[in-house]
Amino acid sequence: MQKIFKVDVSPNVYKSQDKSFPFPDLTHSFCPQCHKQHLHLHGFYRRYLIAKGFEGIILIRRYICPDCGGTVSLLPWFCHPRRTYSMGFVHYSLAGFFGWSGTMVSFIREFVFNHGIPFTRQLLYQYRKRILKNCNRIMMDLVRQFHPDGPISDSVYDRKRVKDALNLIETTAPTPYTVSMDMFSHGSCTYLTLSAI
Ligand SMILES: [Zn+2]
Repeated sequence: MQKIFKVDVSPNVYKSQDKSFPFPDLTHSFCPQCHKQHLHLHGFYRRYLIAKGFEGIILIRRYICPDCGGTVSLLPWFCHPRRTYSMGFVHYSLAGFFGWSGTMVSFIREFVFNHGIPFTRQLLYQYRKRILKNCNRIMMDLVRQFHPDGPISDSVYDRKRVKDALNLIETTAPTPYTVSMDMFSHGSCTYLTLSAI
């Protein structure tokens, strides 16, 4: 399974510290899968990441349970599970696009110009399709996290509902990273992922 943890440095600094980065110590935690044993260190794996100002391979700390053999990987919060592009990139591309009144092509042109990251229409289509599919679960999770007084969106259209949800995150949360980390730790979906397992 994967867990997301808060990181106070940029991907560049995270990478430069390599194995000496102060990763959270889970050796006193019980295995989240069988709850029978404490976790043991289990090396690292390498993962590719594209973020603002960063493109390259980073290390991911891994733990293993000596009883059931289940592993736990620690993703720094700028990573989106199972995606090469960073969490910030996923959030800002979607929030930007759902609030954009022009064409997709003009949005991408503007976004690439502002963020300096290569980005394609296919990728944005993929993100849009997936977040629209996750819309109801994201809405439920935001209610759990923010306890809003009223509904997050009064629209029946998923496109508008996603736009309202992203807007709530932008205006209420300290950063979108906090929101996605919290979502993921509750076994719910993240922006583009249906399950934490
Ligand atoms: Zn176990």
